[in-house]
Amino acid sequence: MELMRVSVLRGVHDVTVEERPVPTPAADEVLVRVGSVGVCGSDVHYYEHGRIGPHVVDSPLVLGHEAGGVVTEVGSEVTSLSEGQRVSIEPGVPCRRCRQCLLGRYNLCPEVKFFATPPYDGAFCEYVAMPADFVYAVPDHVSDDAAGLIEPLSVGVWAARRSRVGPEDTVLVNGAGPIGLASAMAARAYGASSVTVADVNAHRLQLAQAVGFEVVDVSTTSLTDADVRADVLLECSGNGRATWDAIHAVDRAGRVALVGMGGDELSLPLPRIQERELTLTGAFRYANTWPTAIDLVSSGKVDLDVLVTGHFGLSEVEAALTAPGRDPQAVKVIAPPGKQQRQAATGCTAARIDTRL
Ligand SMILES: [Zn+2]
Ligand SMILES: [Zn+2]
Repeated sequence: MELMRVSVLRGVHDVTVEERPVPTPAADEVLVRVGSVGVCGSDVHYYEHGRIGPHVVDSPLVLGHEAGGVVTEVGSEVTSLSEGQRVSIEPGVPCRRCRQCLLGRYNLCPEVKFFATPPYDGAFCEYVAMPADFVYAVPDHVSDDAAGLIEPLSVGVWAARRSRVGPEDTVLVNGAGPIGLASAMAARAYGASSVTVADVNAHRLQLAQAVGFEVVDVSTTSLTDADVRADVLLECSGNGRATWDAIHAVDRAGRVALVGMGGDELSLPLPRIQERELTLTGAFRYANTWPTAIDLVSSGKVDLDVLVTGHFGLSEVEAALTAPGRDPQAVKVIAPPGKQQRQAATGCTAARIDTRL
């Protein structure tokens, strides 16, 4: 039996590297050797708090859901992919039978099995088996990191679709983290006439500016003073106060998509929403976005590699998970298990990783 290295979250602040059998793909699955996995805010949240809302880590969990890699084995029924194909993985597999699935809104499937959401393991490991129709070929000029970051870009594409971003729309993106920047990139690709990104982090704003967006540092200048008026607000800050302010920058008949996760409750300026007939919508993950997102990257309309600020190996997952909190310059950090040498077998199946930082 072939073994692989797996990074396992055992509890709050407790990540170990273990060896587990390499999965065998079912008839409709492919086996993917993971080349790159982006670290997401949700991974950090599980590591720091052991839960996100109702999702509690009560047994060992493999984190990571932004994965790209190479197909190394193909199930007997799979015709869409072959060995050696470079791919991006869509990390949630819905039931395909419920009403939401049948209506095409499979992101709302109550039975979805989503990577790194308890009890389903994610991709901080060397190999994952996945139904072939949730694994998408990427061209060779798209990097492994970008193949993984198709996932956060998909969140942006979905946000742009939910808020119907189109030509002539001015878009305000609140929050310049990876999801904010990916949403801004998606909004521009969807034809927005201007995209402004607001945040309080000077490094992230610098990056947003370098990628060609208008920026407002809301720690020094209010959106009103900066004269921002938006047809669409993509709220990616997860910050209640910032959301309140940003809604005031939305023009009549504007649309607001709530993308970022923040507190459980939010105060809203109701008279503003009523008098201006604003439309507010939630945006949860994505459905049918991978082909679009891959197209945006492979055509050069979106460059995801600019978001990457650090690489960590599989045995450094703890350092990767704490990087965003330690380093204000960190935007998207990557854990690339594929580029890691396999440790020599020691007869020991689990080793506590010591990360003195
Ligand atoms: Zn993510
Ligand atoms: Zn379903």
